[in-house]
Amino acid sequence: MLEFIPLRAFSDNYIWLLVDQQNHRAAVVDPGDAKPVVTWLGRHPEFTLTHILITHHHPDHVGGLATLKAATQCKVVGPANEEIAGVDQHLADGDRIKVLGYELDVLEVPGHTLGHIAFYCAAEDPFVLSGDTLFAGGCGRLFEGTPEQMHQSLQRLAALPEKTRVFCAHEYTLANLRFALAVEPDNADIQVRLQVVEEMRADGRITLPSSISLEKQTNPFMRSNESAVQRAASERLGESVSDGAETLAVIRQWKDSF
Ligand code: ZN
Ligand code: FE
Repeated sequence: MLEFIPLRAFSDNYIWLLVDQQNHRAAVVDPGDAKPVVTWLGRHPEFTLTHILITHHHPDHVGGLATLKAATQCKVVGPANEEIAGVDQHLADGDRIKVLGYELDVLEVPGHTLGHIAFYCAAEDPFVLSGDTLFAGGCGRLFEGTPEQMHQSLQRLAALPEKTRVFCAHEYTLANLRFALAVEPDNADIQVRLQVVEEMRADGRITLPSSISLEKQTNPFMRSNESAVQRAASERLGESVSDGAETLAVIRQWKDSF
């Protein structure tokens, strides 16, 4: 069994440390800053860092890569379609890698950036490392891709098994759910989740991991094929919207100024 340890970085990033306690090995996802990882490794000298997994090229995800690589001689894997210094293995859709004894499938999920990838593990207790594509209750901003691409990426993730745990790279859940409730005020699942997350954040607790089933119930960007979300998008736009990608485009723009 892998253990997932969230290392906090910057104001709201999580650097996920995947830990194989049995064999004293660890891997790290999107280390935007080397410091928290170096600190953890310093406190756990019996552990070897074997891999750095990169989802996309933004500085808050790759900033610590060079320092960590020099300090640990680990292997760096990242997207084939993005220019990232220090990546040893360039991964495209359908590639499969082995990390800490687990098979991870590479999914290309463009939208936030054009080359963004996610890592999916179809183990008995499945999980996906979704970077800045799928957040708890939301999705990444469209810096490079189109609404169509993001829509397709999210629908691909929605097709993963319901129990798949979702590990994303930012603590945006509270703001995301407040927006989700503005889109769907009558959605009881969002109401309940918002209350739970408000309590978690009041206590300074992490709101992750999420799950694919929870996202399908409460994430407006993953729900852009639902009539309730399309109705909200239509009202916002002032004309009828009945297409998932177009709906995502409208609510993404809405969220950008929410
Ligand atoms: Zn990003
Ligand atoms: Fe980010």
